[in-house]
Amino acid sequence: MNTLEQMKAYGHEQIVFVRDEAVGLQAIIAIHDTTLGPALGGTRFWNYGNEEEALFDVLRLSQGMTMKNAAAGLGLGGGKAVIIGDPAKLKSREFFHSYAHFINSLGGKYYTAEDVNISETDVAMINEVSEYVVGTPAISGNPAPFTARGVYMGMKAGASKCFASDSLEGKTVVVQGIGSVGRKLCNYLANEGAIIKVYDIDRAKVDEVVDTLGAIAISGDELLTTECDIFAPCALGAVISSTNAVSLKCRLVAGAANNVLVDAAAGKALAQMGILYLPDYIINAGGVINCGMEITGSYDVGRVNEQVDKIYDTTLRILALAEEKGISTYQAAEEYAWGVVMAG
Ligand code: NAD
Repeated sequence: MNTLEQMKAYGHEQIVFVRDEAVGLQAIIAIHDTTLGPALGGTRFWNYGNEEEALFDVLRLSQGMTMKNAAAGLGLGGGKAVIIGDPAKLKSREFFHSYAHFINSLGGKYYTAEDVNISETDVAMINEVSEYVVGTPAISGNPAPFTARGVYMGMKAGASKCFASDSLEGKTVVVQGIGSVGRKLCNYLANEGAIIKVYDIDRAKVDEVVDTLGAIAISGDELLTTECDIFAPCALGAVISSTNAVSLKCRLVAGAANNVLVDAAAGKALAQMGILYLPDYIINAGGVINCGMEITGSYDVGRVNEQVDKIYDTTLRILALAEEKGISTYQAAEEYAWGVVMAG
């Protein structure tokens, strides 16, 4: 498929290819849908194998941002950008200034923020040239604590369906990935008296949460087979496939990682096993709610938390829609998000 055909398939409005030889910048900015407002989505810096890989990633991610931002009620559209190259070799103030000029050329149609390999420091450098960047250290900063809070609220809503109470006290939760989000999620779980089992490829992070919160360490082999109430994937995507889903021994899957399911078949497999799956972009929207507040109004952390806590109700709404229509929670989330866009 050529680029225009792909844009049509995903429903994109605009794709911008940018290049500045002097600083080694090569990037693709994808504006998916601006029905609800300017497109918001972070910039990912990745050493893609080739341009096709980068284009595929940015098309898919920007479409996801439209749904995430719509479902979170942000009044913003969806977009995303990818910078192609080795972050360790290319990052410099001049590099980000050049990138910022390209963002400015879109006249406010696209707002960027942090994503993989784009830090608060990088965002601050973009902000020296462009106002179209959020998640800036001076205002809303690191979104991870808000993402963790939203995942926790979504998890509680899911628990109310699975266990007839939204209390997580005494519930066993397996957390994969003790990074920025996973670690903060563990705090919420510990505060509520959950039994926390953890796995991270970084042993030091596991040891810290074992020592501090009394979490129980499990191995990578045990991750998908441990008897638990809730599995919270907070590392990378594509964790659950139709093949490995059968080994899960939980009632609820609720985590921060984007694209947890390998494909729709994985979602079907979970449903067949009676495992409730909470769509990732519904419950991990806390970070984007935090950043979005920088665009839509004067930033206020209390209002951000209020908005993030609404993820509880949004999750319940999506579960009710799935039940009412006899569709998967994943399909229900899509239907809900597109409904918000259409009502635009
Ligand atoms: P992070 O990089 O801080 O943490 C990820 C953790 O996962 C690290 O500790 C890493 O060692 C661990 N890890 C990597 N591969 C693993 C594996 N196979 N098994 C176990 N552990 C593994 O990232 P983060 O900011 O905490 O984000 C976690 C996930 O949530 C990501 O998928 C991210 O895309 C998603 N997410 C994050 C935010 C946010 O606000 N940071 C918002 C929305 C979605």
